[in-house]
Amino acid sequence: MQFRDLKKQYEVLKPEIDSAISDVISSSRYISGPQVKELEAQLAEYVGVKHCISCANGTDAISLALMAWGIGEGDAVFVPDFTFFSSGECPAIVGATPIFVDVDNRTFNLNSAKLEQAVQTILNEGKLKPKAVVAVDLFGLPADYSAIKLICEKYNLLLLEDGAQGFGGSINGKMACSFGDIATTSFFPAKPLGCYGDGGAIFTDNDEWADLLRSLTVHGKSGNDKYNNIRIGMNSRLDTIQAAILLPKFNAFKEYEVDAVNKVADKYNELLADSGLVSPYIPDGYVSSWAQYTLQLPDGIDREKLIERLKENGIPSMVYYAKPMHLQGAFEGTRSAAAECPVTEKLCKTVLSLPMHPYLEENEIVEVCKTIMEFVHE
Ligand SMILES: *Cc1c(COP(=O)(O)O)cnc(C)c1O
Repeated sequence: MQFRDLKKQYEVLKPEIDSAISDVISSSRYISGPQVKELEAQLAEYVGVKHCISCANGTDAISLALMAWGIGEGDAVFVPDFTFFSSGECPAIVGATPIFVDVDNRTFNLNSAKLEQAVQTILNEGKLKPKAVVAVDLFGLPADYSAIKLICEKYNLLLLEDGAQGFGGSINGKMACSFGDIATTSFFPAKPLGCYGDGGAIFTDNDEWADLLRSLTVHGKSGNDKYNNIRIGMNSRLDTIQAAILLPKFNAFKEYEVDAVNKVADKYNELLADSGLVSPYIPDGYVSSWAQYTLQLPDGIDREKLIERLKENGIPSMVYYAKPMHLQGAFEGTRSAAAECPVTEKLCKTVLSLPMHPYLEENEIVEVCKTIMEFVHE
């Protein structure tokens, strides 16, 4: 059994993907070919925003957004403590200070009350200027944007939605990657919508930021002249070949994959209902794109032993994430390390992610759950 079975997906889409790749190779338009623009238009339409700017990966996407806003030294950027490293790495890359904020025990997403406390603490300290919030759609579930937006408005903070894991999710029909002033996503192969290498995209309704982002992704070019460089940017483009691979994958994603992962999640929930393990919580009106299916283990369940038992039965599982952001060595000795995040610390010790992808079959789900049920009832 695979944790995320990319090979199965390829087998289903092989004819379209193979011909898309060979078209790019024979066209020799390897950089900025027409497939890139086509994909950007389709993604923007799906998300429901005016502009999609593709780029080289989800990490660059966050850095580019912060660069477009001119965020840098002396600025505080609020980031959940429970996330993948990039969410906090990028504020640091541009010279700002990430301030880590604890998450909600049930959704794993940014806790808005603690966000407000953190903003007030920074204001009271008087050293850093609160500038932006990076809200993460962790494991596919959009963050609590109605509450977060109120705080952003109250304290005049820009909102960046890190939708690397959230693409395809929604709140009351409004799609993930449309909630931030700028939103970003990743097409890393294992993300909900993945390509066959690195890739990413940035979304915004703001025309001025969109122009700026297009410039920043190509060495700070002026308009369409890439040899007239009017600002310091990056080289961060989505390869044509990756855009071409994403086009048929995106069709499958829209047509059935998001539904299929939600069915997998429902089945897991049903079969694990009496396990004593805490299934992922999806608030009313929210749809997750299930980048991960992550359980919380109660006291008395030894995570290492459960992982070992699953492994003995050929079932891969993962711990996302084992370490709070503020305890990462990269932040040691900085203001960022001072965060107090007891919920994150607890989650890091108790979470476990199970195999999850749209092609997971019912018998596989049954096998995973049977192994878990036997373990917990011993
Ligand atoms: C994967 C991920 C990123 C970074 O994306 P890459 O394409 O790997 O650079 C950023 N934020 C979160 C929450 C992620 O899961």
